[in-house]
Amino acid sequence: MTLSLIDSLSDKELLRNNLYINGQWQEGIDKETFDVLNPATGGVVATVASGGAIEIQQAIKAADDALKIWQAYTAKDRSKFLRDWFNLIMANQEDLALIMTAEQGKPLEESRGEIGYAASFIEWFAEEAKRINGDIIPTNANDRRLLTVKQPVGVVAAITPWNFPSAMLTRKAGPALAVGCTFVMKPAKETPLSAIALVELAHRAGIPKGVLNLVVGNSSSAIGNELTASPMVKKLTFTGSTSVGKMLLKQCADTVKKVSMELGGNAPILIFDDANIDKAVKGAVASKYRNAGQTCICINRILVQDSVYDEFVAKFTKAVANLTVADGLSKTVDMGPLVNAGAVNDIDNMVQDAVSKGAILTTGGQRMNMGDCFYQPTVLTNITPNMRVADEEIFGPIAPIFKFTTEEEAISMANDTEYGLASYVYTQNLGRAWRVSEGIEYGMVGVNEVAITSEVIPFGGVKESGLGREGSQYGVDDYLELKYICMGDL
Ligand code: NAP
Repeated sequence: MTLSLIDSLSDKELLRNNLYINGQWQEGIDKETFDVLNPATGGVVATVASGGAIEIQQAIKAADDALKIWQAYTAKDRSKFLRDWFNLIMANQEDLALIMTAEQGKPLEESRGEIGYAASFIEWFAEEAKRINGDIIPTNANDRRLLTVKQPVGVVAAITPWNFPSAMLTRKAGPALAVGCTFVMKPAKETPLSAIALVELAHRAGIPKGVLNLVVGNSSSAIGNELTASPMVKKLTFTGSTSVGKMLLKQCADTVKKVSMELGGNAPILIFDDANIDKAVKGAVASKYRNAGQTCICINRILVQDSVYDEFVAKFTKAVANLTVADGLSKTVDMGPLVNAGAVNDIDNMVQDAVSKGAILTTGGQRMNMGDCFYQPTVLTNITPNMRVADEEIFGPIAPIFKFTTEEEAISMANDTEYGLASYVYTQNLGRAWRVSEGIEYGMVGVNEVAITSEVIPFGGVKESGLGREGSQYGVDDYLELKYICMGDL
């Protein structure tokens, strides 16, 4: 472990490097490990135990054994465990943020924000735990009464990505634990330390052994194969790329598991000539370059009406060129490194592809000499459909700008993708705001606003962006079975 990170933590026990199975911290059976690297410096942040098929089977068994114990608690008891966990996360926000920036690279302020966001799901579902009501259905026969009860699905498996290493986990663990499910998680191997630290705090909150388990390892497919094949696992909840999500969906078919899928996005922002252009520029910069463009709801395509196109391109380019790129721990930083050198290669290839086919770079387009993982915030115009940036999920700091003439054309361009997660519209025309919001095929629409997420809203996508919703009053539904009971002969 780097001395600098451990030295900067108030609570050094939060920087753990083990698997957590049945309430115990343990090494992998064969003592294999892997290194977690700091993308800003290339240094090793920690060396972490690597688990595989055997450890994940142990974790699934522990979660299955713990179901009865966890479900014997009342909803109010489970709510109290979650509330205690929430309090511990918030009390350790700064340490958790430092760990996140060290392994993921995002600016410290963004990490603090993510920890608050992650904790909010635990708090929200601690409250929702007490409100899982059934129904009495008006009867169809006088001697019968018809009712429904909601019951936990059972053992839940969660596979999460590196871009939001804490929030993507709590958005799943919160509802699962609240309703009485037990949980086996596999965080991404780029960023396991944030998840491990959260589990340490769950342990301190007294969450009983077996209820939460964590296995991470060198071979995600070995872990994924066991999680999807096990008949003890009743639900898989996944956040990550659409390609891996599709594969996991197929793997879940043999045991007919319930599934939730939060997959890739290709968010458009539609900027109309009646928009406040300065606010649109500010929103577009904030959404595009947050987490170095590595979020599923980051703007992926900027669509601008022709009469304000030149003004928008000039103002947007100026704002992007002024962004400060630095180590996420720097005092002044707008954008940190990408997650690894492979991500920089992908982004550079996309830029080269676009430029070779006629795109114009208005700013950026180069690797930076601060380390292997830094890339300039980049803006491209003159985009044509044969360029990769025109239809792929970019997942990095490139903003391609497109031109449109009519509202119909803008809606059609926005919908011309297999993805359907987040979208944004800038207009001052109320009728247009409604027409476009209803006409675009996305799970979420921000009108004159890009900061659209929180624990109170249903997060999720349509088309190939996923199945199900996380957060909000609907976020427990995917962790519950609806049971119908007919009481006859009354
Ligand atoms: P990814 O490659 O799909 O990885 C996501 C998770 O799946 C990681 O834990 C990864 O483990 C694991 N994984 C990969 N191959 C696997 C396999 N064969 N079996 C089981 N697990 C496997 O995605 P990513 O690059 O980490 O994340 C970026 C993607 O996530 C983007 O497409 C983004 O849009 C999407 N995302 C969506 C949302 C949403 O809410 N819709 C939120 C955030 C991100 P290892 O990394 O350890 O191999």
